[in-house]
Amino acid sequence: MLNSRLTLCLVLLSVPVIAAAQAPVTKIQGVSQQALDIHHSGMLFDGHNDLPWQMKIQGQSSFDVLDISKTRPELHTDIARLREGGVKAQFWSVYVSASTDTTGDSLLQTMEQIDVVHRMVRRYPETFELADTADDIERIVKAGKIASMLGIEGGYSIQESLPILRRLYGQGCRYMTLTHSKSLAWADSATDEPRTKNGLSPFGEEVIREMNRLGMLIDLSHVSVATMKRSLEVSKAPVIFSHSSARAINDHARNVNDEVLRLTAKNGGVVMVNFYSGFITPTEQLKKDSKDLGTLSDVVDHIEHVIKIAGIDHVGIGSDYDGVPRLPVGLEDVSTYPRITQELLNRGHKREAIHKLLGGNVMRVLREAEKVSAGLLASK
Ligand SMILES: [Zn+2]
Repeated sequence: MLNSRLTLCLVLLSVPVIAAAQAPVTKIQGVSQQALDIHHSGMLFDGHNDLPWQMKIQGQSSFDVLDISKTRPELHTDIARLREGGVKAQFWSVYVSASTDTTGDSLLQTMEQIDVVHRMVRRYPETFELADTADDIERIVKAGKIASMLGIEGGYSIQESLPILRRLYGQGCRYMTLTHSKSLAWADSATDEPRTKNGLSPFGEEVIREMNRLGMLIDLSHVSVATMKRSLEVSKAPVIFSHSSARAINDHARNVNDEVLRLTAKNGGVVMVNFYSGFITPTEQLKKDSKDLGTLSDVVDHIEHVIKIAGIDHVGIGSDYDGVPRLPVGLEDVSTYPRITQELLNRGHKREAIHKLLGGNVMRVLREAEKVSAGLLASK
């Protein structure tokens, strides 16, 4: 999710050659057969999709009102376009507004959003299945379904309670973005004044340790630079940025600077590039002309910058579909991902590298986090 209404989060994985049993390889304008083959034989694992939020605000949280087995032009996401785009695994954001931190109903609303995802999976069982682990993802993808994990967006969802954090893990939540647009008592937002001394309060550090113990990924999208750095110091597992782009290309507080890109590489984590026009095109340009949506090529510039600074093992895709109001030309909805693969091929990237960034990297991070969790449980 972006700030208020839009901007949620997604993750992508690419496990080499989990050839989708039946991926319907659709011809997309300007995408070669070679690009389609590479794309569909990889494992696109997107870090952030806000469909549950759009279901809430446009569809009364009802799949009768918005049936995604039918074409849904009012959304970025429906089943046919997910298949066309070659999505194999998805982190569905269960975002609720940062204002719930003050109204006190963040857990209630988060549970309602979790219920939307659970109902989606039950209603379309031939398309989606909830995944608990990286192995589970592989099994589900091999069966030709879209592996689904949940991402909490905004640490206020746990209402300062580690027992609630543990219960949300039990509901399928496999990452938590520590903040959204507002700072919390225990972690600071990139788009608000800090409330902690060094990025995390003592309780914030406890949250990170408990997430490590559970095997829940720590998501540093939306947080301040100080919170990014402190979390990278405290976490024993690799982290993710579920939907953030490169600050050196566009100096926006929601993007990741080069220093943190290097620290993330050292941590073993992954930065999943966000497609939102406001993050990928230079801010000044946007101010002068709000119609500047940017293009697919701009997004690939961000991907290449992350590769240049952090390395090919530390980049992914976190589109933010259905969480943002404006998208680049060429990346209008979830059917368009193969165009990224085509553009990467055009720029000389090889099959193996493309598979890493489509999803292989975030799969590795998930497995590492599971290992760290198992080690911490064993040492208790
Ligand atoms: Zn967001």
